[in-house]
Amino acid sequence: MSVYDKKSLKAEEFINDEEIKATLKYADENKDNLELIDKIIEKARLRKGIDHREASVLLACENPEKIEEIYALARQIKKDFYGDRIVMFAPLYLSNYCVNGCLYCPYHAKNKHICRKKLTQEEVKNEVIALQDMGHKRLAIESGEDPVNNPIEYILECIDTIYSIKHKNGAIRRVNVNIAATTVENYRKLKDAGIGTYILFQETYNKESYEYLHPTGPKHNYAYHTEAMDRAMEGGIDDVGIGVLFGLELYRYELAGILMHAEHLEAVHGVGPHTISVPRVKRADDIDPDEFDNGISDEIFEKIVAIIRIAVPYTGMIISTRESKSVREKVLELGISQISGGSRTSVGGYVEPEDEDENSAQFDVSDQRSLDEVVKWLMDLGYIPSFCTACYREGRTGDRFMALCKSGQIQNCCHPNALMTLEEYLMDYAHEDTRKIGEQLIEQELEKIPNEKVRKIAREHIFDIANNNKRDFRF
Ligand code: SAM
Repeated sequence: MSVYDKKSLKAEEFINDEEIKATLKYADENKDNLELIDKIIEKARLRKGIDHREASVLLACENPEKIEEIYALARQIKKDFYGDRIVMFAPLYLSNYCVNGCLYCPYHAKNKHICRKKLTQEEVKNEVIALQDMGHKRLAIESGEDPVNNPIEYILECIDTIYSIKHKNGAIRRVNVNIAATTVENYRKLKDAGIGTYILFQETYNKESYEYLHPTGPKHNYAYHTEAMDRAMEGGIDDVGIGVLFGLELYRYELAGILMHAEHLEAVHGVGPHTISVPRVKRADDIDPDEFDNGISDEIFEKIVAIIRIAVPYTGMIISTRESKSVREKVLELGISQISGGSRTSVGGYVEPEDEDENSAQFDVSDQRSLDEVVKWLMDLGYIPSFCTACYREGRTGDRFMALCKSGQIQNCCHPNALMTLEEYLMDYAHEDTRKIGEQLIEQELEKIPNEKVRKIAREHIFDIANNNKRDFRF
């Protein structure tokens, strides 16, 4: 039997099944222990996070007053750490060739009716132009795992192509990568190619379920998958994004697991995950989400987001168009800091939306609005859509990014960067209505930059963006 050790490099020791089971038992025993719950909430108020056991007690707690206190704190922490900024991104699907047998994923190798596609470099270029023409600056590239069709060389070539395209005023300034677990050597190559975050979802932290859900292919190996972020960090990537596919296993198990993963990364590498994603299983070709027993309600989903927010305040949280407009609206205030907009989950879908009969998509998109509609909607809700990619380009990654967060300088850095990149969006891509609302918002928000010098420079840059066709300023 393996023993729990968050500093271990062995999957079964840092994500220890016994520890998770003991945590869930402890949470059950204490779910009505208001004294303990108050203590945990008090600790969370210090904004230094809470651990997997404490978070699990809050997740088990069903007391409506305490839940409201947790939500209020999550909203406050969200506001204090991220302001009203919401970072925008889009996924770009490169290839859906896959040798794995994941039971929840339409790319699984036995799916003979999904339309298999892999973008050529010319097609990558056209997809990127379409994304730039929408206004995107940050992409997450996605691919199935297939060493013959999508080897690392193919992924690297796509990254080069993406960064090389300068269409009108467009540019993709940050490419995040969501590809299967790989070797330290390949992570080093991704680092050298200039990627932003390396994203890999654990899918489920429960080893038994994991092996059942991944019956064939390299992804079957639980330890190799779970230890991927340690290899990525060894390869020099210091921004990593973790996630769970909710619906596969008991959500309480997954919350404990993902927080243990974050604690492990922090303990071993001195920096926790850059982001946490919270996807839920969706309908897709050959996939019926109802076949998975552990689907979670919107209420539980919101509670999970709020608890992650207070457990790891410095970790960004991402939500995709798997979720509907109304769910997105609720979780934005509870903790989400990055959202996708105008997404297509089919290979080549930005240039040519697919016909029903040639479905290559990874999942059905719930939020089908255009990027401009999402941008306008965010501003109507009082948020500032941000196309900022400055931290990574200024070398503020890993612990240097965390240092910026902790220094309290975000209002003088992220805030003006958000306003300047929003101005670029308004000038180059926004509809008239969106532009009007945005211009007003920027005017009001400029006043909130605390440092007078920074405020003055930001104002000048925004003037230059609007009047002198200048682009790409950043603090
Ligand atoms: N092939 C890579 C891997 O194995 O990690 C990249 C992953 S895939 C392109 C991105 C993510 O989509 C997966 O990690 C999984 O969590 C999610 N996904 C797969 N099938 C899904 C479904 N039916 N509904 C929602 N999300 C799904």
